Amino acid sequence: MVEHCVIIGGGHGGAQLCMSLRQNGYEGEITLVSSDDGLPYHRPPLSKAFLKTPSVGRQIIKSQAFYDDNKIDLKLGKTVTDIDRAAHRIELNDGQKIDYTKLVLSTGTKARKLSIPGAEASGIHYLKIAEDAELLRDELAEANSVSVIGGGFIGLEAAATFVGLGKKVTVFEAGARLLGRAVSPEISEYFLQKHQNAGMDIKFGVSITSFSTSDGRVAGVNCDGEKISSDLVLVGIGVVANCALAEQAGLVCNNGIVVDAHMQTSDKDVLAIGDCVIFEHWQTGNLVRLESVQNANDQARNAALTLTGNQQRYQEVPWFWSDQGNDKLQIVGLSIGSDQRIVCRQDGEDKISVFHYKGSKLMAIDTVNNPSDHMIGRRLLAGLRTPLPTEVATVGFSLREFFKSVQ
Ligand SMILES: Cc1cc2nc3c(=O)[nH]c(=O)nc-3n(C[C@H](O)[C@H](O)[C@H](O)COP(=O)(O)OP(=O)(O)OC[C@H]3O[C@@H](n4cnc5c(N)ncnc54)[C@H](O)[C@@H]3O)c2cc1C
Repeated sequence: MVEHCVIIGGGHGGAQLCMSLRQNGYEGEITLVSSDDGLPYHRPPLSKAFLKTPSVGRQIIKSQAFYDDNKIDLKLGKTVTDIDRAAHRIELNDGQKIDYTKLVLSTGTKARKLSIPGAEASGIHYLKIAEDAELLRDELAEANSVSVIGGGFIGLEAAATFVGLGKKVTVFEAGARLLGRAVSPEISEYFLQKHQNAGMDIKFGVSITSFSTSDGRVAGVNCDGEKISSDLVLVGIGVVANCALAEQAGLVCNNGIVVDAHMQTSDKDVLAIGDCVIFEHWQTGNLVRLESVQNANDQARNAALTLTGNQQRYQEVPWFWSDQGNDKLQIVGLSIGSDQRIVCRQDGEDKISVFHYKGSKLMAIDTVNNPSDHMIGRRLLAGLRTPLPTEVATVGFSLREFFKSVQ
């Protein structure tokens, strides 16, 4: 029987898997099915350069020629509606059935929706796919005041862009600090100062009760008895893993599709990768679902090894970046379970490194405008000796000098 790997999802993970399978010598058929209308494209620019500049289009990951040359059958603008694991067959929304020998789910996530009065009004946006960004960018041109619900990565990146475009911007954060789930309090405070200095109004601990509307269009945000007029709203309150298809097929899911260290689900002929999966992290032992380009790409590479008979445990160092206005935030490692942090920052400098420790074990480094520490952190956490808390706390500590000494 001819091997046929069918990939569901044409995002970062799906595209990388096509590349890695062929690079690893996979000779079977490959089909990529994606609900997206066009070729797989880079998501991160959607909340960055894309919003700022009307002339910026989608950044395609690989051209049509790549898929043609590598004999990858693209089924774009098609949604998989059913997986029949016993028959090794999937069904698409147009009724087409495709047989597989191995199936890989890279279905990503969907935006978590607000369900409060007025939430269906026009002018209320989410930012997940290129079409969302196009619509938002078009309407932005006419808007003066913009409200952003959620002080997480995407909401804040977009809010900083709106401020840069001269809009009056209000950010509503339910928690007590910005980026609270992801970075240390010192970095939250840094970005609070930066964004406020740029003119952003940031409200903490607020719960939005409804949106005011006028002729079916959003006119304001109502919270705690206050109404803030808004021509446009962006909701960025997190995402939910797209695992309904997997659940329907009887695969084990738990706020994500559960996979082992080789990207295999509870059915060895079905793998899953990227934002939609939950797995026990080699570094912390916790079940994690990571939302990052690095994780999607590296899990795709790992799945390709599994599919070509070269199984290796997934042990990549997680890393992530976010552009907040002119500042670059980078995170390497996972700070889950850490009990101590050491902040390295020269007075008044816009360059920060925060080292997270669990006992004497370095777990993660958050950096702002310090790509050198970030890159070194990636090398160290991949297996070199890492500095002890006492070393990092020494006056004049340099991660670069430390790195030279352990290479
Ligand atoms: C605006 C924005 C900014 C971001 N910025 C950053 C950043 O700065 N740094 C960073 O590391 N990460 C960033 N991310 C996150 C990053 O884009 C994701 O982690 C990455 O895209 C995950 O890849 P994936 O393949 O798992 O999922 P996705 O790229 O989301 O792809 C999922 C694919 O599955 C398809 N699909 C789902 N269900 C079906 C179905 N039933 N049938 C067919 N197709 C289906 C979808 O259409 C889509 O093509 C950002 C994300 C967004 C939205």
